[in-house]
Amino acid sequence: MSSFLDTVPVSAIIKIRDLMHTVKDPFRLDQGDVSFDAPDTVKEAMVKAIADNRSHYLPTTGLPRLRQLLAEKMRTENGIPVESDDDVVVTNGGTHGLWAVCQGLLEPGDEVIVPDPEWPPTMAMVIAAHAVPVAVPLREALGWRWDLDEMERAITPKTRVIYLNSPNNPTGGVLTRADLERIAAIARERNLWVISDEAYEHVVYNGEHISIASLPGMYERTIPVYTLSKSFAMTGLRLGYISIKDPVIRARAIKIVAYTTTNVNSVVQYGGIGALEGSQDVVREFRDELLARRNLFYDGLSRVASGILSGTPPDGAFYAFVRINPEWAAAFGLTGPSLSWAMAELLIQQGRIGCVPGVDFGASAEGYLRLCFGRERRELEGALASMQQVFATARV
Ligand code: PLP
Repeated sequence: MSSFLDTVPVSAIIKIRDLMHTVKDPFRLDQGDVSFDAPDTVKEAMVKAIADNRSHYLPTTGLPRLRQLLAEKMRTENGIPVESDDDVVVTNGGTHGLWAVCQGLLEPGDEVIVPDPEWPPTMAMVIAAHAVPVAVPLREALGWRWDLDEMERAITPKTRVIYLNSPNNPTGGVLTRADLERIAAIARERNLWVISDEAYEHVVYNGEHISIASLPGMYERTIPVYTLSKSFAMTGLRLGYISIKDPVIRARAIKIVAYTTTNVNSVVQYGGIGALEGSQDVVREFRDELLARRNLFYDGLSRVASGILSGTPPDGAFYAFVRINPEWAAAFGLTGPSLSWAMAELLIQQGRIGCVPGVDFGASAEGYLRLCFGRERRELEGALASMQQVFATARV
């Protein structure tokens, strides 16, 4: 790949993460990492795995018990007709799962319909597979969902995949059952695949999370991608999974896993067994606390950033994706080629508040800003107070 990799974009999230390490006493609202710690069920299972010397090679696709639990979870919780544990491939987080899927499914030149805005690695991974992302805007007025007529018009004879990410990062938009039924009908009619990134499946405040793979005739053409990162606060542990019914595509994806990891870290896989065998209350507790933090943060924004940053609290995920008032920016003299970068730099440099410019998520998101409210309440309150100060100075 070598020089071709130069064409694969680097997300601003990575650049900003590095930049934030140079900021003293930062408010880390830039990255999608909740402040919760992994539950005891995970930690105890990992400690035991170490004590039991679980430090040897494993089957490429993962521990049999873990795959069994994951298949069962997808059947009962997601309603996906996973008939065999063999469909399940354990990956090094959702990112690795998406890489394996993109490499295993996409042919050079295939067009992939992707939401815009969308988590930047999606574009990068599609491009790295020599495929072509076709960005279709999510509409804020529709709760950050697609206008599905517009989405359908973007399909060409070269389209091979519709890429879904619900709840969406960065907007928090959640696709409805009616959306998914229509997308499924389009996929069946046009003979398309669906890649369904369900990283935030457990973080839904309004509505419900539905996997498109659970709809009739869809699992055979859908590859659902999951992670324990967000649901169990296991971001650094790196545990995800994919489920692929088609044996040819699955064999390709398994090759990627084999040649990039041999197997996912053994101790972490035992941690995953602990997560799934243990109480699932923690998942709901995290969600409830995130809802409280969402409300706290939006109340705060309406106090300290009224007329400057605006948006509706999201239905899912844990990001405030807010619109920057261009008139305020012009009056304040916030200029530059990108308004969202100018605002991000102002908040990082003067307010120590990590945030990500909207334009990083797609052309249609220029003029927006993403702030993660999955942080502790104290940190959110600190960031709001700091923001108030930055904007107060700006008003002088
Ligand atoms: N998909 C989306 C939309 C995400 O936001 C993330 C992480 O931020 C992931 C997938 C992958 O997460 P991980 O690699 O930690 O499992």
